[in-house]
Amino acid sequence: MANKSEFEEMEMPTPCQKCGEIFDLLDGLSSFKWFPNTVICEKCGNKEVEEIEKDEEIEDLKAAIEDAEYTIVSAKKRLQELGVEEDKTPS
Ligand SMILES: [Zn+2]
Repeated sequence: MANKSEFEEMEMPTPCQKCGEIFDLLDGLSSFKWFPNTVICEKCGNKEVEEIEKDEEIEDLKAAIEDAEYTIVSAKKRLQELGVEEDKTPS
């Protein structure tokens, strides 16, 4: 908890929607994922950014795998069309 003098220095003391701690609204960060259109404390805001970045990386990796799978499937199909025996080694 913030002590009293810290509390009085704040211009706009606001309870954080995420962690419940009082923070200065002016120091807060906009939430995008957890509480859209809400300003949360800086600490939670940074954690949210990290989480969003992780989500984006996961989506990118999934998309990369999908692309790779599509590439393999279409290459195998084309090889078949060209009359090439499909590789029997398990993929
Ligand atoms: Zn917080």
